Amino acid sequence: MASTLPPHVTQSSFDAALSSWRRSIGSVHVLTAAESLAGYSDAYSPLAEHAGASAALLPANVEEVRAVLRIASEHGIPLWPISTGRNLAYGGAAPRLDGTVMLDLKRMNRILEVDDKLCYALVEPGVSYFDLYEYIQERKLPLWLSVPAPGWGSVIGNTVERGVGYTPYGDHFGMQCGMEVVLPDGDLLRTGMGAMSGSRAWSLFKYGFGPYVDGLFTQSNFGVVTKLGMWLMPAPADFLSCSVYFANEEDLQQIVDIMRPLKIALVIPNAATIYSAVVKAASLAVRADFYRGEGAMPPDALKRMIKQLDIGFWNLSFALYGPTPFIENQWALLQQAFGRIKGARFAAKRLGDELHYRDLLQAGIPNMGEFNTLNWLPQSVHMDFSPISALDGAEAVKQYRMISSRAREHGFDYFGALIAGWRELHHIFALGFNRYDENEKARARKLFAILIDEAAAAGYGEYRTHLAYMDRVAATYDYNNGAMLRFQEKLKNAIDPAGVLAPGKQGIWPERFRDQRGGPA
Ligand code: ADP
Repeated sequence: MASTLPPHVTQSSFDAALSSWRRSIGSVHVLTAAESLAGYSDAYSPLAEHAGASAALLPANVEEVRAVLRIASEHGIPLWPISTGRNLAYGGAAPRLDGTVMLDLKRMNRILEVDDKLCYALVEPGVSYFDLYEYIQERKLPLWLSVPAPGWGSVIGNTVERGVGYTPYGDHFGMQCGMEVVLPDGDLLRTGMGAMSGSRAWSLFKYGFGPYVDGLFTQSNFGVVTKLGMWLMPAPADFLSCSVYFANEEDLQQIVDIMRPLKIALVIPNAATIYSAVVKAASLAVRADFYRGEGAMPPDALKRMIKQLDIGFWNLSFALYGPTPFIENQWALLQQAFGRIKGARFAAKRLGDELHYRDLLQAGIPNMGEFNTLNWLPQSVHMDFSPISALDGAEAVKQYRMISSRAREHGFDYFGALIAGWRELHHIFALGFNRYDENEKARARKLFAILIDEAAAAGYGEYRTHLAYMDRVAATYDYNNGAMLRFQEKLKNAIDPAGVLAPGKQGIWPERFRDQRGGPA
């Protein structure tokens, strides 16, 4: 018997589905014991409690995924696909709806193709960034990856969530080309040129013929991605990881305004990131070294910390790639540009120097260094508040003031970074809380909801969010009476009439589970 059945599912239909799944993928790949399901949870959950999954299915190949979905549709059992389940800060390996059956794709972990002439890879969901990196290193291929921090997650999992990396190929969905997708009713399609049986350009030309649909399978519940093409960067002749330290809080506006034309013209080719002092400090020290009191760190302690660690109030990080004389000239030009800000200090490192984990990320070398920053506070986990703004100094300052002052009011440090994309900033505020302190969690939930609402009122939307807040964030995308969500739910009901694939993901609810909207937060 399942410990928690999904809503609107009877024990008898659940048992019938389990029997069919056992027959189609083998009993050992249908997990129902509590100890086997413990990992399908959110280790960073902000919630007081959540019951988690009722079972997990581990298919070995595409045909088995198709069979799993057909059986789910037949019996009306909700499934939640994960690739490696490392989606920490946004929900981990937990489903949105308690009692959902996990569709764990980690056994499908083949690297199907790596082409060093046309520079792409074709992978299955269980392939992690570490796996792909090792494959390339072992064969000494002249290719670089773009990896998120940390590197243990899956290439497909990160790309379908529209995650980012730190090389010029850091817009992972932007660099994706071609998908294979199992639809909720078990049908199988390939996107782009893959829609033509004989094409050899599946991983080379994104658009194929007719509507471009790959985006429909990112941050959605419209299909299970079983293969994905990813463009890779040719290994550059030389690499320089550059840091600029700025002394003053007020410098933020000028930093962003100097950066904008340089980013848009690709003089800075990668996702330049502005780390706040606390984020920078957390990779070097722990908070107790500077402050042991309650609430957010007061300004005098912050000042002492910045001085003692010899860091900036803002710490800008980007990298340059190419032949040595090119990048040296670029670096000279960039030092001149940012040198207009009084007190700016510069440092640069090459491969072979002693590298910080963020330097490694800019070189596409997967690592787990980011986890050290969790030691900033004891027992700390986090959920990330991630609004988008224009790549504009005044906008950055407005968001920074809004988030940092609310965080301080609620007793949390501003653990923030601003990452420059093509023309926008992803502002990532990691709201850290003690995972065993229910009061602190409740305060974190309250702050998070306030941030979503206040950001929306100011015209800022999140690019991604924790499962518990998907409905709240989806509701902020409200143009024309929520036309976008209405369209998404029309599609959902058409392609998933049984409503079985990841109900509630991104706030998209099928008719069958519509009464579950709103959720825990
Ligand atoms: P990672 O381990 O790379 O962080 P996850 O496996 O945790 O990624 O997946 C993150 C989220 O992306 C999941 O909650 C799920 O909603 C979605 N997802 C992951 N893999 C797939 C897939 N192959 N097809 C469709 N959606 C997926």
